[in-house]
Amino acid sequence: MHELKLAREIFDLVDAALQEHAMKSLKIVHCKIGELQPLIEEQLQSCYQILIENTRLAGSCLHIERVPAQARCRKCGREFDLDELHLFCPHCQSTQLVILSGDELLISDLETDTCQ
Ligand SMILES: [Zn+2]
Repeated sequence: MHELKLAREIFDLVDAALQEHAMKSLKIVHCKIGELQPLIEEQLQSCYQILIENTRLAGSCLHIERVPAQARCRKCGREFDLDELHLFCPHCQSTQLVILSGDELLISDLETDTCQ
């Protein structure tokens, strides 16, 4: 299941960041996921919730932002929005594309409890 793999990747990234910055009581994980990653957000959320049980990430939730897919044509050099179903250049129909964005998985921010 693709969502489980993504949830694991997010978990590993966040866990490493928590360790590095000695953060406590994590609340919200903001992540950016490219639109080329096939994904059902609800499934990713539930996989994540299962993974974080009894870990230091427990109690946190995911905020997912999708990043639009863009590509550049190797043949005519134009840049355009990429549609998962049409993987070719809309100007010259070339399939020689460079993916500029859309397949990323990034943690953009971590929100923690502000304790007094
Ligand atoms: Zn082209």
